[in-house]
Amino acid sequence: MEHCKFCSTEFKYKRQYNEHIACCEFINTRSRERNSNVELVDDTIPNPRMMYELIKNLMFKNQQLEKEIAGLNKIARREKKKINVLEYLKNHQLPQMDYTKMMEQLIINTKNLETVLSGNIIDGVCSLIMDLIKDQPVQNFPISAFSHKPNTFYFYSSDTWQEMPHEKINMLFDILSSRFMRAYRVWEKTRPELNVENEDVEKQKMVYFKKVLGVYISDDFKYRKFMTWLFDKLKQNVKNIIEYEFC
Ligand SMILES: [Zn+2]
Repeated sequence: MEHCKFCSTEFKYKRQYNEHIACCEFINTRSRERNSNVELVDDTIPNPRMMYELIKNLMFKNQQLEKEIAGLNKIARREKKKINVLEYLKNHQLPQMDYTKMMEQLIINTKNLETVLSGNIIDGVCSLIMDLIKDQPVQNFPISAFSHKPNTFYFYSSDTWQEMPHEKINMLFDILSSRFMRAYRVWEKTRPELNVENEDVEKQKMVYFKKVLGVYISDDFKYRKFMTWLFDKLKQNVKNIIEYEFC
């Protein structure tokens, strides 16, 4: 049973109640403003019952429309934001290196490799990227992110910005991981203490190998950790951008 809070009438059906409340609320809240002197000369006025039915029906339809418009506005706002970020990047951010150049510059050094061996492959991949971005503004980097769009990335390639699918981020991680594997093999050969026939050394090499391979951590975890780290390092505050665009 539905109960009208304005006139205490009870309704058995939800739809009937919805129609009633739309109208009853209007009458109750606007009763003081109502103009009782309106008279239409040439139009036959329907009887009050019919009038009331019409109003109820209109109020109900209006309510539905308002709900629909609110929904549409929400979508429109979201779309606008999406366009604005890409537009902003295209107009305001021209990185010194594009994606291909970035890939060429991500070269593993001994320190990066040691980060993996003393930590894990995620730490290593992050340290490699950090070496490239630490001494310059994030705007020079060909991957961008914005604080109001968590885990959404954009990349700069072929002289334009586009949204970066998560698969491409995961692929970036995989490519860099395999570079670590190659770097490890080279490094291993240069270490005299690792090039002796000995069971303990073999065990140690196996531990290193598994670390670089990242077998101790699940793929999902690696990708998620990397993405969160990358977002945190690259994100720009959208508030600064809006201020920039308005001044
Ligand atoms: Zn009522």
